[in-house]
Amino acid sequence: MALLKITAYGDPLLRKQAAKVEAIDKVFKKLTQDMLETMHEATGIGLAAPQVGVSKMFFVVDWTQLADDDDPKRDEGVVVYINPSIQKVDGDIEYLDEGCLSLPQVTAEVPRAHHVEFTYESFDGEEVSETLDGYPARVFLHEFDHLQGVLFIDRISTSDRKKIKGLLQDILSGKIKAFDGTKQNSN
Ligand SMILES: [Zn+2]
Repeated sequence: MALLKITAYGDPLLRKQAAKVEAIDKVFKKLTQDMLETMHEATGIGLAAPQVGVSKMFFVVDWTQLADDDDPKRDEGVVVYINPSIQKVDGDIEYLDEGCLSLPQVTAEVPRAHHVEFTYESFDGEEVSETLDGYPARVFLHEFDHLQGVLFIDRISTSDRKKIKGLLQDILSGKIKAFDGTKQNSN
């Protein structure tokens, strides 16, 4: 396995609509393993393909990283969401702090709906339907946004955006860097 470099805010790839995954082959599976390893090293709960420079519609989530010890979702462990498609987003809008491995040090309150219903393709190429509520729904929606070229800072209030302006500048200038695992690979 190999650690990867995480794409930082400012990279145009983070703003692109990702393309459908066509083949769930060996190369693809290796990439998801590398992404998981990278995500664990960078301590995130989710990582979308565009965040490692791959403009494809998939992301990985490690549900064991949920902060709430009692959340039953934790038992599912690692899930690779391939070609996800949202059927329904509804419920109350909740405001919670989010961060992103592509926006190091930036956190802001993001409004998101409580409930989401979606389908995705599993590793075996089967269509899976899933429903999420609360924080897990938020994680899914955050990662799903990445596949559309949307970042969580696009959803925050104007006053919050003013507060993080300096940090964004520091990321753009390279003063604040995103995780780069390629510097840690031994061979
Ligand atoms: Zn993110």
